Amino acid sequence: MKVIKHSFDGVIVGAGGAGLRAAIEAAPHMKLAVITKLYPTRSHTGAAQGGMSAALANVEEDNWNWHAFDTVKGSDYLADQPAVDILCKEAIDSVVELEHWGLPFSRLENGKIAQRRFGGHTVKEGEAPAFRACYAADRTGHMILQTLYQKCVSMGVTFFDEFQVLDIKIDDGVCKGVIAYEIATGDIPRMLIHSLVTVLEFYIKKEYLLKIWNFINSTLLEYIDSEYCCLRLPVEKVVF
Ligand SMILES: Cc1cc2nc3c(=O)[nH]c(=O)nc-3n(C[C@H](O)[C@H](O)[C@H](O)COP(=O)(O)OP(=O)(O)OC[C@H]3O[C@@H](n4cnc5c(N)ncnc54)[C@H](O)[C@@H]3O)c2cc1C
Repeated sequence: MKVIKHSFDGVIVGAGGAGLRAAIEAAPHMKLAVITKLYPTRSHTGAAQGGMSAALANVEEDNWNWHAFDTVKGSDYLADQPAVDILCKEAIDSVVELEHWGLPFSRLENGKIAQRRFGGHTVKEGEAPAFRACYAADRTGHMILQTLYQKCVSMGVTFFDEFQVLDIKIDDGVCKGVIAYEIATGDIPRMLIHSLVTVLEFYIKKEYLLKIWNFINSTLLEYIDSEYCCLRLPVEKVVF
């Protein structure tokens, strides 16, 4: 077994819909690596067939508030409601963004993105099923992965495919790297994260932050409002 060292400004673990979209956002600002235990386009996102919900109102009257109502209700009222608002509001632009990046959505007669009924989506807070799921035949998730992956490749993101992350290296509360296992060879690369632009930022509810991160120096916190704060983790250059 060999131990190989790599150095990047930022590392994303996972190349499903979430990891690939995060990579597109981060790639212009840093030397970035994405590590994934599966080949990116085989991630579980590819199993999603039904569609991606967004209140585009292409078929009937719709708005993101009704989408938010369904999402909160679908979570048995456990979802973080400000986060649900952001999700449902931004879903509309996210679908259009994917369309512009080349996702071959199914179309209505008038050329607009097709939408169908799916899951617990309703109009007017439960009055009737909603035509809200934007889809690409029966392979929406598969097409999302293809579209995001080709965008990442065009932006020069470095991929470590079929590398399983084993551990995250944290020194003094600062994330300094990850340790992964190359499935094909058994080699262990250590990915060092250095000078990640300046910081990693997490927006988090204060009550959770105090429970989970109570060891973190309060100077790393910026209070956004009475409920939320931003946690900034400096990522320092390290030499092994
Ligand atoms: C059958 C099915 C149908 C669905 N249908 C829909 C639908 O129609 N509409 C909808 O909105 N949602 C649907 N969902 C839910 C939706 O697909 C998921 O919530 C979403 O795709 C999750 O995306 P993700 O990027 O978080 O995770 P994933 O796509 O699972 O990606 C996880 C990534 O992490 C990597 N990874 C994990 N552990 C490690 C490790 N230790 N080291 C390195 N890499 C690692 C994996 O290789 C993978 O690349 C469906 C889900 C399923 C299972």
